[in-house]
Amino acid sequence: MFDVAIIGTGPAGLSAAITLKMREKSVLWFGPADMSAKVEKAEKIANYPGAGVIGGRELNGRFRAHAQELGLETVDRLVTTVTKTGGRFMLLAENEVYEARSVLLATGVVTSRGVPGEAELLGRGVSYCATCDGMFYRGKAIAVYCAGSRYAHEVEYLADVASKVYLYSPERELTVGGENVERLGSPIAGVEGHDRVESVRLGDGREIPVDGAFFLRSAISPASLVPGLALDGPHIVVDRQLRTGIEGCFAAGDCTGRPYQIAKAVGEGNVAAHQILEYLAGTL
Ligand SMILES: Cc1cc2nc3c(=O)[nH]c(=O)nc-3n(C[C@H](O)[C@H](O)[C@H](O)COP(=O)(O)OP(=O)(O)OC[C@H]3O[C@@H](n4cnc5c(N)ncnc54)[C@H](O)[C@@H]3O)c2cc1C
Repeated sequence: MFDVAIIGTGPAGLSAAITLKMREKSVLWFGPADMSAKVEKAEKIANYPGAGVIGGRELNGRFRAHAQELGLETVDRLVTTVTKTGGRFMLLAENEVYEARSVLLATGVVTSRGVPGEAELLGRGVSYCATCDGMFYRGKAIAVYCAGSRYAHEVEYLADVASKVYLYSPERELTVGGENVERLGSPIAGVEGHDRVESVRLGDGREIPVDGAFFLRSAISPASLVPGLALDGPHIVVDRQLRTGIEGCFAAGDCTGRPYQIAKAVGEGNVAAHQILEYLAGTL
């Protein structure tokens, strides 16, 4: 079992990972190895002390280099569920279960709350993981939301298994093969069903009968990620020690609220790491 699981490889997660590694804790660090897509996208950053006026791509590269220099490794998997049982946390990430004594949520802010019906039917036809749940849809019809080419291989896998794939992706250039893949021109606006998924509703009002709906994206709402977490809109409610309402579960960075800034994310990651050290020592 790990001392701490950090979810998110943005500035908040990196900052916490550095401190915890330097204090010789065992750290399980989830998120894309290329780190923060948000930092990467910033054209110019002028308000992060010590970096001067710097392009987002360069700063994100420096973050990666810093992690590498300290021997910090990432697990490039999307964590889909965090549950606490008997004083330990179980994390489900793409079909693997991991255990940790404490958790830091550094997931960035997730503005999309998902579509209506998505959270309600999660695990009953709604899935975030093609390789985990795809086999249950052999010979069946499914709807797939694909955020981008990063998930193309998951769509290919689903197309191999399912009889029919109704695919929506905001990325027009996305090319995924299979005669059974029908590209939708309108986004998935809702998931319908009583006990299980029965259909998806599209933005243009059409309803398509399906047995399952996959949402392949890089982040999921905190409410779906950690059941029972207290939220204020899209933000995780924390106290000054960055504790959430769940003992041993902390949050830092954009996910705790505005301002959405790198310096705040780094600062909170550092504070959270120190609180986690105290929690692990039993002194918090
Ligand atoms: C265009 C643009 C320009 C910006 N300009 C500036 C600026 O000039 N100055 C400034 O200070 N800030 C700027 N920002 C804001 C800054 O990028 C954010 O405040 C900062 O990145 C927040 O860091 P974070 O670690 O909280 O979250 P993020 O950087 O969003 O990182 C979150 C990480 O968590 C991962 N993740 C999420 N959910 C999961 C999961 N379930 N499992 C595994 N991994 C997960 C994500 O993939 C990501 O790697 C800008 C943002 C944008 C988009």
